[in-house]
Amino acid sequence: MYCNIPLEQAQELLLSCVRPPVVEEAAILEALGRVLARDIYSVEDIPPFDRSPLDGYALRAKDTEEASADFPARLKVIAELPAGLVWPIPLYSGTAIKIMTGAPIPPGANAIIKMEDVELFDNEILIRTALKPGSNIIRAGEDVKRGELVLKKDTLLNAGGIGMLAAVNRSTIPVFEKPKVAVICTGEELVELGAFRGPGKIRNSNLYAVSAAVIEAGGRPVLIGTAPDRLEEISKAMERGLEQADLVVTTGGASVGEYDLIAEAYKKINSEILFRKVAVKPGTPTLAAKRSSQVLVGLSGNPAAALIGFEFLVRPLIKFMSGAPDCFRPRIDAVMAEDFNKAGGTRRFLRAVIKKNEGSYHVFLAGKQSPGILKSILYSNALIDVPEDSGPLLAGQRVEAIILAESEVFIP
Ligand code: AMP
Ligand code: MG
Repeated sequence: MYCNIPLEQAQELLLSCVRPPVVEEAAILEALGRVLARDIYSVEDIPPFDRSPLDGYALRAKDTEEASADFPARLKVIAELPAGLVWPIPLYSGTAIKIMTGAPIPPGANAIIKMEDVELFDNEILIRTALKPGSNIIRAGEDVKRGELVLKKDTLLNAGGIGMLAAVNRSTIPVFEKPKVAVICTGEELVELGAFRGPGKIRNSNLYAVSAAVIEAGGRPVLIGTAPDRLEEISKAMERGLEQADLVVTTGGASVGEYDLIAEAYKKINSEILFRKVAVKPGTPTLAAKRSSQVLVGLSGNPAAALIGFEFLVRPLIKFMSGAPDCFRPRIDAVMAEDFNKAGGTRRFLRAVIKKNEGSYHVFLAGKQSPGILKSILYSNALIDVPEDSGPLLAGQRVEAIILAESEVFIP
């Protein structure tokens, strides 16, 4: 067991303990936001036939060969062809078919002229320029060829990806399973939403914050609920979590106080403690254990410390089990826009708002930084990684930032 373990070592250790990604067939829309587990090839051309890209007239280019402003070609319109129908017989010389966007090119026709480019008299059209064979025809397979690799394994599926899977007729998709994460909050003082809050009690916000973070990370939360600070009940909740999930996350009771029972509970359920305390602030009192290929992470009860601890120690595990090629967030170089005087000692993560200005990223603090303050998490879009033994940070100083959200955040 490690004590006061460096963050990266804790991450590596936990990643080496969790189960590998598992493949499942998911209904097509269930695959959105997940990682594709196999290469996908197209079994047909897309589009499957030559078609018109516009509303116009299908004709034989040869019939317009000698057309000019003064001597227009004159073609008889013999039919109208909407998208979804097929014209069965070859087009004779001197005739044209009115054709709609997406309709298949009639046999014998080899050019389309735009509706706006003809003059229509009764059922005849006049054309005053020669058309090249192949004009305005989308060829079969222009988008995707039969047999082509359309989506590579490990692709994160977005709306475009889902569209392509539908285009190649996949109603179920091989993706990596969403890992199940049991969430347990411990604390005698916790009261559920809607229940009467007696003296000395607080709302259980962590249950929902952590479960929401599980969903954001691509996992499925299993809300086991709240356990009071009693060994028996905490270990029972952990056992239930281990039965139902890949990973068990608790909040509270992670420190060394009289009623901090997570470490005791880890022993009681015969799990092996991997570390106690991580060398970062907030969230120093964080611990973890494993039982066969299941991992338990004990986050601090302080709402901001719990979410930041989740960010660094739980999110990468969910990403790994979901098959994500990269388990970590991007880091960027940024510039302090204001001073922060309290740095020093332990490595620290500051809740910050990053704004882009003339090509560089400017860091503003998102409010109070103590571990129990939730508001500054809400108003941050980045964390600043302040190294160990760093002196005060001064405006203009370069820092490293971890981007949490793409959007700019507004501080009221
Ligand atoms: P602990 O980690 O148990 O020492 O708790 C640290 C602080 O976080 C205490 O002020 C707790 O009351 C608070 N806290 C613990 N659990 C929760 C929770 N689930 N929701 C909101 N606050 C909590
Ligand atoms: Mg407590």
